[in-house]
Amino acid sequence: MDRTAVAKMGAVASASVCVLVGGVVLAQYIFTMKKKTGRKTKIIEMMPEFQKKTVHIKDPGRVEEIICGLIKGGAAKLQIITDFDMTLSRFSYNGKRCPTCHNIIDNSKLITEECRKKLLQLKETYYAIEIDPTLTIEEKYPYMVEWYNKSHALLIEQGLQKDKFAEVVRESDVMLKEGYENFFDKLSEHNIPVFIFSAGIGDILEEVIHQAGVYHPNVKVVSNFMDFDENGILKGFKGELIHVYNKHDGALKNTEYFKQLKDNSNIILLGDSQGDLSMADGVANVEHILKIGYLNDKVDELLEKYMDSYDIVLVKDESLEVANSILQKIL
Ligand code: C5P
Ligand code: MG
Repeated sequence: MDRTAVAKMGAVASASVCVLVGGVVLAQYIFTMKKKTGRKTKIIEMMPEFQKKTVHIKDPGRVEEIICGLIKGGAAKLQIITDFDMTLSRFSYNGKRCPTCHNIIDNSKLITEECRKKLLQLKETYYAIEIDPTLTIEEKYPYMVEWYNKSHALLIEQGLQKDKFAEVVRESDVMLKEGYENFFDKLSEHNIPVFIFSAGIGDILEEVIHQAGVYHPNVKVVSNFMDFDENGILKGFKGELIHVYNKHDGALKNTEYFKQLKDNSNIILLGDSQGDLSMADGVANVEHILKIGYLNDKVDELLEKYMDSYDIVLVKDESLEVANSILQKIL
């Protein structure tokens, strides 16, 4: 063999060794990565509720870490902060839209046809703004105030009677999400504080959860409550208006409640609007917070935004299965 042939053979041999070593290193790397990611999302990978196509998670490792923290803290550290309309209540059933607290009145016999028309017009204009993917929260804010002021003024004009609300709720199409009994009953059984923070109408909301048999003592409702005269006729609304995009100062305005819960440093937050993301703002001493967001409308336009801000996004999900499966692990 001449010297060039020997040199060539040497080069081929060392290249093969390189390929071999490289291959082993790569295989080892993939193996470790798999092991790592496997370990990182072991809990949620084993939960069938998380495998559904409706569940979207941007960072499964982070969600796994938060859930681990919630499990570790157990019942003693847990509290729930949740929105109501379209989060605890259904967005649709059998393809038909379900009502919000406001819509329960809008659709009822308590108001005149003329008023219904006006409320519907307002809804068309302002709901489009509420969910417009191209506008910022700051841009939407004044329109929400306008919507609430106009629609509440119309309701006051109608002289609504408080003692008709039970009947109106019973006759409405409102429905709580599938699994609501399990959700509320389990939280009540373990005495976990549930803060329902709603920009709906408190009196209607309370009637809905009362009729569903889940208004347990561990549930606190903060919402827009109506003010009635001595004959039970609507004359206004109590306190400051809560609308879709001013939920960030809820903790600040309910300091007594949250002060009592200073050791409940683990939070599960449930919402459906971008405004609901700030419902736990101002809560002191937050150790772990898991934000679960229902995306019901304008899914294609909003999915990325929701995935950037909610830890878990549930697309067109009319159930509380995911929340219940997490509670099952914690409690
Ligand atoms: O409970 P939550 O905070 O979700 O309640 C607010 C909901 O009420 C919003 O999603 C909004 O679309 C709806 N709303 C309504 N009619 C109004 C004002 C708000 O249906 N006049
Ligand atoms: Mg809502």
